[in-house]
Amino acid sequence: MRYAGFDRHRVLTCPFCGRVPEEPHAMQLRFGEITGGRCECGAVYAYDETGRLLGEAFNDALTLLYNEDYDAAQNASEADYQEEIISFDKRLGRYFRGPGGAEGVGALLDRRPKYLFLKKTTGKN
Ligand SMILES: [Zn+2]
Repeated sequence: MRYAGFDRHRVLTCPFCGRVPEEPHAMQLRFGEITGGRCECGAVYAYDETGRLLGEAFNDALTLLYNEDYDAAQNASEADYQEEIISFDKRLGRYFRGPGGAEGVGALLDRRPKYLFLKKTTGKN
């Protein structure tokens, strides 16, 4: 993905593999609709437009990661998956890794839209 003119901050890229994942779109799950997408590497993400519902986005992403297997999602421990947050700065039109942008601060105060990515770690090493 390192061709001339490619600015990784101007497009949403997967924090695990660097590919461009699906655009955020409505995904119908049994318990309701979520907004998110998938990446070719197996990562999934939930999109949180308000930037303030990360707990909810986390649950959505976890459900997606386990293909709606709620038992597996419930029993998953932090060793089973990796979590990364990408935030989007509308003013700058750029994506940043981390909840508070480049500074990594003010995560709770900032209202940047966020993409909460999860990827399974088990069986991949
Ligand atoms: Zn990926």
